[in-house]
Amino acid sequence: MSGQILIISGPSGSGKSTLLSRLMAEFDNLYFSISSTTREPRAGEKNGVDYNFISTDEFKQGIEQGKFLEWANVHKNYYGTSLEPVEKALKDDKIVIFDIDVQGFHLAMKQYKELITSVFITTKDRLELKKRLIKRGSDDEQTIENRLFNAATEIAHIGEYDYLIINDDLDSSYEKLKAIFISMRSKTQSFIINDVIESWSEC
Ligand code: ADP
Ligand code: 5GP
Repeated sequence: MSGQILIISGPSGSGKSTLLSRLMAEFDNLYFSISSTTREPRAGEKNGVDYNFISTDEFKQGIEQGKFLEWANVHKNYYGTSLEPVEKALKDDKIVIFDIDVQGFHLAMKQYKELITSVFITTKDRLELKKRLIKRGSDDEQTIENRLFNAATEIAHIGEYDYLIINDDLDSSYEKLKAIFISMRSKTQSFIINDVIESWSEC
């Protein structure tokens, strides 16, 4: 077996973290790639758990030192995926989960296309997204407007992803995500195919 990557993208507020925390509570053969970011933590977010919250200087240093597998500037903040822990988790046969934006998805595809299963998660429309962002209560009005603007540009890329989940009803969205996750383990690329063929030729 070898590791694989599950990329989750979608507008901020569409429910990615909510769905992923369910998946992480249920399965242990996965590794959630903790991104680094220069944005302020939201209420309840923990450093080293939700994100590595770092300064802009530290982030720029990381870029120069080639520490990021990919990085992007989203909503005026830097976000990036650290290369080293991802490589280790892949070697340990884990399914590595990235919650990253469309720019990050494009960059990751350049390097890891063969290993990637991608899922786009969204609300059914802009109004529902706005309601959720307001209800979450972590952003001011201007930030919400930025997130809605960004959402519209990201939606245009849905067709590039393997799967789409319209996160209306949380339970049924979770069942869909879980089915995708489980089926990843049966992809032929996750097996050392020659070993299977060899054991068939033995008797
Ligand atoms: P993201 O990680 O994509 O930014 P969150 O997981 O933080 O989004 O979800 C944004 C808000 O929407 C949270 O307050 C969350 O509780 C709520 N939420 C998530 N999924 C649903 C759903 N299916 N129906 C209603 N509210 C939801
Ligand atoms: P938020 O501020 O809501 O946590 O995240 C904002 C956006 O940044 C989301 O679209 C999220 O998927 C994306 N994001 C989070 N971490 C990374 C990362 O490491 N790389 C990239 N490219 N995007 C990220």
